[in-house]
Amino acid sequence: MAYSLPLHFFRRPCPPLSLSSRSPPSSSRPPVANQLHSFVEVWKMAATKHFPQMVSHVILDLDGTLLNTDGVMNEVLKVFLVKYGKRWDNKISQKIIGRTPLEVATAVVKDFSLSLTTEELMSAISPMFSDQWCNIKALPGANRLIKHLRSNGVTMALASNSSKSCIEAKISFHQGWKESFSVIIGGDEVTTGKPSPEIFLEAAKRMNVDISNCLVIEDSLPGVAAGKAAGMAVVAVPSLPKQAGLYSSADVVINSLLDLHPEKWGLPPFEDWIEGTLPIEPWYIGGPVIKGFGRGSKVLGIPTANLPAENFSTILSEHTSGVYFGWAGLSTRGIYKMVMSIGWNPYFDNTEKTIEPWLLHDFGEDFYGEELRLAIVGYIRPEANFPSLESLIARIHEDGRIAKKALDLPIYAGSKDSPYLKNSMLRSNCHS
Ligand SMILES: [Mg+2]
Repeated sequence: MAYSLPLHFFRRPCPPLSLSSRSPPSSSRPPVANQLHSFVEVWKMAATKHFPQMVSHVILDLDGTLLNTDGVMNEVLKVFLVKYGKRWDNKISQKIIGRTPLEVATAVVKDFSLSLTTEELMSAISPMFSDQWCNIKALPGANRLIKHLRSNGVTMALASNSSKSCIEAKISFHQGWKESFSVIIGGDEVTTGKPSPEIFLEAAKRMNVDISNCLVIEDSLPGVAAGKAAGMAVVAVPSLPKQAGLYSSADVVINSLLDLHPEKWGLPPFEDWIEGTLPIEPWYIGGPVIKGFGRGSKVLGIPTANLPAENFSTILSEHTSGVYFGWAGLSTRGIYKMVMSIGWNPYFDNTEKTIEPWLLHDFGEDFYGEELRLAIVGYIRPEANFPSLESLIARIHEDGRIAKKALDLPIYAGSKDSPYLKNSMLRSNCHS
C-alpha cells in the first residue's frame, strides 16, 4: 500500500528531543548540529500536526477493524450464488472488502445479474451470515492489541454500527474480548450511526472521559469521519485495498493493527518486537510453484517462487499485506529460509493480491511445478511504495537479511521442524 509522506516520516527513528534543548543557538551551531536541530523542529511540528492528542482511552470499531467479517461474507455469498447457477469470482471478493451489507448486496445483484432485488438478497443471506458468526476470525494483530491494552490498564470501548446483540454474539467466540471492554455500544443505542459522531461521543460519556483523551481505531470511511467529527484522534486501518489515500482525514493510516505504535499516542508501547521482527502465530500455505510475472529474476534479480493466488483467496483475505518470513520446504530439495510479500506490490501496482516468496538460497535453476510448503512465522513491515527500482531492490535485500538473521533465533528456528514442512519431504521420499 502506498503511504503518504508523513507516515514514512514517522517511521524514521526520532532523535531524543533533549538534543535541541542542549544545542547552542543556531548561529554558533556547527552544520551537523544545525541539521539535527532542524530535524527535531520538523519532528516537533509534525508531531503537533499529526499527534495532537496524548490519549488515555481507546475506542475500537468491530467489523473490519478487529474481525475479518468480509471473509465470512465471501463464503456465504459463494454458497448462495450456487443456487442461482452462478460461480463466485475472486475479483468480486476484493470488490466487497470493507463495504456495508447494503453495498455488498447491491454489487452482487448487479455484477451477477441476479433476478432478485437488493432487499431480497439481503433478507436471504442475513440468516446464513448469522449462522457463520462463530467462524469470523480475528484480524491480524487484534488479539495482540486487546491483550496489550487490557494488561496495561488502558480503558477500551467497542463501538459498532451493528446492534448490541449482534456485537455481543460475534465477540462471544473470541476469548477474553467481552471482559476487555468497559463499554460496548451498538448502533441501536444511538439515534444516528456512523458517520455521525454520536456513537463515539456516547462511548466517551459512558467511559466518563473527555473526548480529547480518546483514540478511535477504525477501518471504514464513515467510521473515520465519525471519529473526526467527534473531535477525537483517529487511526485508520483501511479495509479497502489500495485505498489508503481516501483516508486522509485520519490522523494516521496504518496497514494493519500489527503496525500500530501506541506510544505515539502516549499509550504503553508493545514490547514484543525482536531484532526488527514481530513473532506471529505461525500459519501454513503450500502448492505447486508457478510462473509469476517474470520480473522477479529479470527486473529485480530476486527470483521468487510464486504460488497460485487463486487457490488461496480465503487465506489471503485473512492476512494483511506486508512482508513476512519463515521456512520454505521444497519436496525434493529441503527446507530453506524464506522472506515473502503478500499484497499488491505498490511499485508494480498489481491488480490482484499475490504471495511472492523469495527462498534465501541460490538454486541455479527454476523449479516450476515442484511442491512448495511455507511456514510463516514472523512479520517485518507493511507493504510500501518506493521512489525507484533501486530503492525497492535495496529494501527487499534488507528484508532478506533481517529474515535470515531472525530465523536463527530460538523463537523462529523451531518452526523449521514443523510437521507440515517435514511431511512434504517424507511423502516425496516415499514416492521416490
Ligand atoms: Mg468497520
